[in-house]
Amino acid sequence: MKKKLGLVYGGKSAEHEVSLSTARAVTQAVDFDKYEVVPIYITYDGEWRKGESLESSAKTIEELRLEGDGSGQPDSIHDFLNGGTGAPDVIFPLLHGTNGEDGTVQGLFEVMNVPYVGNGVLASSAGMDKVVMKQLFAQVGLKQVPYVHFIRTGWVKEQQQLVDKMETELGWPMFVKPANLGSSVGISMATDRKGLIEAVDIALKFDRKIIVEQGVTAREIEMGVMGNDEPLCSVSGEIKPVAAFYDYEAKYTDGNTTLAIPAQVTEEVKKTMEDMAVRAFKVLDCSGLVRADFFVTADDEVLINEVNTMPGFTPTSMFPLLWQKTGVAYPELINGLIELAMERHAEKQ
Ligand code: ATP
Ligand code: MG
Ligand code: MG
Ligand code: MG
Repeated sequence: MKKKLGLVYGGKSAEHEVSLSTARAVTQAVDFDKYEVVPIYITYDGEWRKGESLESSAKTIEELRLEGDGSGQPDSIHDFLNGGTGAPDVIFPLLHGTNGEDGTVQGLFEVMNVPYVGNGVLASSAGMDKVVMKQLFAQVGLKQVPYVHFIRTGWVKEQQQLVDKMETELGWPMFVKPANLGSSVGISMATDRKGLIEAVDIALKFDRKIIVEQGVTAREIEMGVMGNDEPLCSVSGEIKPVAAFYDYEAKYTDGNTTLAIPAQVTEEVKKTMEDMAVRAFKVLDCSGLVRADFFVTADDEVLINEVNTMPGFTPTSMFPLLWQKTGVAYPELINGLIELAMERHAEKQ
């Protein structure tokens, strides 16, 4: 019997369109001898829609943008949530950011008792919050840039003290980030006090919790990690943005950023990154996959910047490209991740 693979995509998110392209790419790479694909589309308004099973690849993205049946909450989603007929045997969430990468949708899959690809609730939520993530990294001695964090009410009450503290402990330039986001949204670099205050105001539009980091001049190198209890690392890849930093435009629109895979690094730097990536994976209790992002300075000091628990997953995204160069093609990668999801689920029973 073929397994029903539920692809969950779209979502109430800035990355909705990216998710649709990923969904199409995944349907083109799935092994239809093994799986039938159940498309589960989340609209821009957050409405869930389940489509007819696909027996072959989606031809266009429009095919995946499912229409509603006008009944409000579709019955099929009810069945689906209750494990009724047509419920998927395994789910592949192709969602990024809030509600997709932060443990919330993972919690829903846990409650449904259905296996799902990627990280669980704890790893997803801890990985989404840059402050919590850095605190856990520090606990296992992973080197990272110095940072200061605060919440909106703290900023309102003690702006002066916080700015003084940052100037003393971090120096210029600084990187100001909303704690819970991705794709560089809401991130700016500040080079003086005025710029810092503006940057904090921007970041506060996206989150009540802010992290301000010391700016480093370094190469940016990323590594894929895949597995459950014994994760493996991919080759590494370097990002060479032409912009001042790897901002949202550089990631999705300008097309000028080049990726060098594998990154040209010494054997020692490579080993250090592998060791740090695996330790980061383990301290967050990850499963399935992460992409670990590093800074490598001119004198080869390796600092971990973050891990992403649901990294970009189109065939031209860094994570799949890293695995491709490691010898795992896109269809195999998808298959491997589904198998890891099944393995983790079986272990929990
Ligand atoms: P994504 O999840 O898409 O990788 P993100 O929103 O989680 O991105 P970061 O990776 O933390 O954000 O930062 C985005 C980019 O900003 C980095 O790739 C890098 O170019 C730059 N950057 C971030 N922090 C620093 C820092 N402390 N010093 C120098 N550059 C930084
Ligand atoms: Mg990130
Ligand atoms: Mg992200
Ligand atoms: Mg990053």
